[in-house]
Amino acid sequence: MADAHVKNPPPAIDGNALVSMCLSRVGIDRMFGVVGIPVTSLANRALALGVRFIAFHNEQSAGYAASAYGYLTGRPGVLLTVSGPGCVHGLAGLSNAAANAWPMILISGSSDQSLIGRGDFQELDQVAAVKPFSKFSAKATDITEIPKSVFSVVDWAVAGRPGGTYLDLPTDVLHQTVDESEAERLIAEALKSRDKALIEKPRIDNSKIKKAVELLRSAQRPLIVFGKGAAYAKSENELTKLVESTGIPFLPTPMGKGLLSDKHELAATAARSLAIGKCDVALVVGARLNWLLHFGEPPKWSKDVKFIIVDVCEEEIELRKPFSGILGDATEVVGMIHKEIKDDPFCLGKTHPWVEAVRNKGKDNVAKMEVQLSKVVVPFNFLTPMKIIRDAILGVGSPAPVVVSEGANTMDVGRSVLVQTEPRTRLDAGTWGTMGVGLGYCIAAAVASPDRLVVAVEGDSGFGFSAMEVETLVRYQLPVVVIVFNNGGVYGGDRRNPDEITGPYKDDPAPTSFVPGAAYHILIEAFGGKGYLAGTPDELKSALAESFSARKPAVINVTIDPYAGAESGRLQHKN
Ligand code: ADP
Repeated sequence: MADAHVKNPPPAIDGNALVSMCLSRVGIDRMFGVVGIPVTSLANRALALGVRFIAFHNEQSAGYAASAYGYLTGRPGVLLTVSGPGCVHGLAGLSNAAANAWPMILISGSSDQSLIGRGDFQELDQVAAVKPFSKFSAKATDITEIPKSVFSVVDWAVAGRPGGTYLDLPTDVLHQTVDESEAERLIAEALKSRDKALIEKPRIDNSKIKKAVELLRSAQRPLIVFGKGAAYAKSENELTKLVESTGIPFLPTPMGKGLLSDKHELAATAARSLAIGKCDVALVVGARLNWLLHFGEPPKWSKDVKFIIVDVCEEEIELRKPFSGILGDATEVVGMIHKEIKDDPFCLGKTHPWVEAVRNKGKDNVAKMEVQLSKVVVPFNFLTPMKIIRDAILGVGSPAPVVVSEGANTMDVGRSVLVQTEPRTRLDAGTWGTMGVGLGYCIAAAVASPDRLVVAVEGDSGFGFSAMEVETLVRYQLPVVVIVFNNGGVYGGDRRNPDEITGPYKDDPAPTSFVPGAAYHILIEAFGGKGYLAGTPDELKSALAESFSARKPAVINVTIDPYAGAESGRLQHKN
């Protein structure tokens, strides 16, 4: 019989609970993933501690969600997976985070340490497997190592250039226990020994600021280019002040769109070729001179252009060999440049020949595009539905919807037609050109910004990668409307020459083809969401009006002419 005077011992904390305590202690409040052996309890413990766990069907989508969540919030997105194959599926998300420079942590359960090398259930050397995509990896080999391991993967994910990190949690460690006071002691000790150098931002060299200001001041045709590094750094206020006080035209990269509105009179988006081809000084903030910016080289850029690159990553600056490089956080650097100019201000003004040239070219191009957009083409080409969608998104007002975009033609056309008016409201295939990110990004955006509608505009091929996650949308009742441009395949119809269609499998569908007329809208209805089929402007307008005001999970299946658009979108020379 129990002795009524003996108190029950405090509940033991197991590895699952300790990981969850550590994550919530450093402000991790969301996790994405797929549960199973050995991490189901970890998800449950985290939920009990107030960390929202969004359960997916596939780690690939959950990983894309975690990467985008890190970008949108500035706090690392966490992907939780099972061991072996779960970890391997998660590599898609981790690699995407690495390529885009977004902070993310992959946490995977792993085999019992005593069974390694003997063919344990889902056994894999996961630390080795993640290596190409992880800035830093930690394996907790004992419960006492959990706090330090958790805090270091969190700190490394956001340190310097953000990226992916990895935490390996063996099954036996997750089942080990410590008592509550020991858990608290371990956490306190690990918090104290966090590497401060990782969290500190680089000191900005003031002489570089002065040099940048002199260059901008003396330039004939200056341009300010900014990318998703500046969006991540939340530089919108500083960039707006700099642009508006100097009158220098600006050019955002695709995901930089919205830091300043696309409708701003100094936006050079519609005059991109002229702006990059003719500028003599380009201040590039949080954007790499990689394929997306034509490597900063002729023929797209002038051979004499002087680049001033602002980046948190020293290696990036060294790699590009700019005229001047400023190491530092985008918001701080742009703020310092603006302050330096304020002491001796200059402004190009509306009648400056360069400003006028960019504005006139932009107006011209917009007018030409509007002529194309005003044609009502049915069966739909890409432009007719894109215009209707653009107007519906603009009609939502503020807070503006987050637009998720992927697909070859759908993304290319969407980038020039859809209008971004607020920061971090565009997520697309990004630096890596990753297809299949759509549903994961939608879920991340809805979770990160619950006040915003999320609208995906994607091709049927992109949608297919993660279409099952429409069930996840419905399960969590997320305000996401997925618009599928359905042209029956990758790039649409069969574009092979007749002489290519030979051999024993010539009667098979083309590698680019899907089932024609696929009823993607019915897919979401299987789970209780709302589906629409739209083949005419009226059908599309009414589906958009109803689904945008309902703010419930919906799929709009838009029938597109399979021969509209081009194979490989705008990258035909690469295919
Ligand atoms: P985009 O695709 O929009 O051109 P990239 O992903 O190529 O943008 O480049 C983003 C750059 O921003 C990376 O080189 C990254 O190191 C840098 N970056 C990330 N965070 C910051 C920050 N806080 N301040 C300055 N640069 C940053």
